[in-house]
Amino acid sequence: MYDVIVIGSGPGGYIAAIRAAQLGMKTAIIEKYSTLGGTCLNVGCIPSKALLDSSEHYHNAAHTFKTHGINLSNLKVDLKQMIARKDDVVKQNVDGIQFLMKKNKIDVHHGMGSFVDKNTVKITKEDGKFEEIQGKNIIIATGSKPASLPFIKLDKDRIITSTEALKMKEIPKHLIVIGGGVIGMELGSVYGRMGAKVSVVEFMDSLIPSMDKTMGKELQKSLKKLGFEFYLKYKVTSVENKGKEVIVKAENGKGETIEIKGDYVLVSIGRKPYTDGLNAEAAGVKLNERGQVEVNDHLQTSVPHIYAIGDVIKGAMLAHKAEEEGVFVAETIAGQKPHINYLLIPGVVYTWPEVASVGYTEEQLKEKGKKYKAGKFPFMASGRARASMDTDGLVKVLADAETDEILGVHMIGPRTADMIAEAVVAMEYRASAEDIARMSHAHPTYTEAFKEACLAATDNRALHV
Ligand code: FAD
Repeated sequence: MYDVIVIGSGPGGYIAAIRAAQLGMKTAIIEKYSTLGGTCLNVGCIPSKALLDSSEHYHNAAHTFKTHGINLSNLKVDLKQMIARKDDVVKQNVDGIQFLMKKNKIDVHHGMGSFVDKNTVKITKEDGKFEEIQGKNIIIATGSKPASLPFIKLDKDRIITSTEALKMKEIPKHLIVIGGGVIGMELGSVYGRMGAKVSVVEFMDSLIPSMDKTMGKELQKSLKKLGFEFYLKYKVTSVENKGKEVIVKAENGKGETIEIKGDYVLVSIGRKPYTDGLNAEAAGVKLNERGQVEVNDHLQTSVPHIYAIGDVIKGAMLAHKAEEEGVFVAETIAGQKPHINYLLIPGVVYTWPEVASVGYTEEQLKEKGKKYKAGKFPFMASGRARASMDTDGLVKVLADAETDEILGVHMIGPRTADMIAEAVVAMEYRASAEDIARMSHAHPTYTEAFKEACLAATDNRALHV
């Protein structure tokens, strides 16, 4: 009998297993695929960042090296090598998880995990053989899969999801992206930087609609420079594969319709929780109407010793959110009283410029009727950004109008994915905008833009604008 069985080895599951093992519990992890690491390591965060980095190098070589005084000739993309390097990066990462399981003495079972009853999980291997294991506690960490629309047939050839977009055999001539969210903008950027025309059809009135509106507007400006075309407030009505051509039709609710022809369509309208084959009913675990595993504040399902974490439950579908929940549940099982501050889980988009956000958006503060001050600082005014020719974007700090406590930080610009960590620390310690404004930030760094935005929020005291 195991103390803990984890079903699913993504960032939620493998972190939960490591923390449970660290706390002295006999732990097993079940993964249906042959490699560990889940969506994030195999077909998500890691491979997409590998391709984003490669395409960024190409784009810089093609467009900015000359200004730096570096001349190249015969520049071309070797897509096969680019994808092979990405595969190698994935392999290093998934092998790393295998090593961590061994180091922490966690039993790894490959096969489909399904509940037999509330303490027993059956593991069915690829060859049809199976075994059953028992656990005092079970953690469901089965993640998510790409969502689609009922009338779209994902043929995985021309009409693809992010998974296929990570292993293309050619650079699309015209990639049509359905959905202006994080995944669509990241993968659209990969191919846009390498010369593909990219058209984005988005139902809402802005890109990355769940983030602060300023971010979507600024990102749209930057991606337009890269040649992206946008059709906002358009609802896709049909997607057809005509062999080498794909046709997307959409309408905007005012009787206006568009027809876009391309060679590939990337459907990136979000992801849905994945519980197929889990047989949750056999354990009495309830799902909600959105197909998510229903959990309480302790992340317990309707069966108290069965927990669920990550993309399969409510909340942001992010690897680091899943990781926090993995640690939370392992520590809860061990009798500790852990805590997660969901407001301070940052959101990042790895386009260029990068977008990063934490805390409340301006729209949320308005809706709450909260009195706030906004301080902004553009990267155009940053010496470091001018040196690297990365002057698009800005930092926006929202602070309480009375107490000056930072309530939200929204950044679009160079390396903001890393810069947002300072804002998380500041908010976790309930810093005021002036607290940050009075701290020394190394010069010249991009981080000075955060300090300057805090100065602007404090009393309109930014020094370099
Ligand atoms: P998953 O990573 O989905 O893992 C679930 C695992 O469970 C899978 O390996 C699956 O095979 C296994 N499984 C499912 N059912 C069973 C079963 N019955 N038995 C055995 N095994 C089972 N997030 C970020 O934070 N940053 C990023 O930059 C980022 N980039 C992304 C880019 C792309 C293209 C995509 C698609 C996603 C990205 N994400 C990113 C989201 C991130 O990948 C997910 O939020 C994260 O992987 C969720 O982790 P998880 O552990 O909940 O589930």
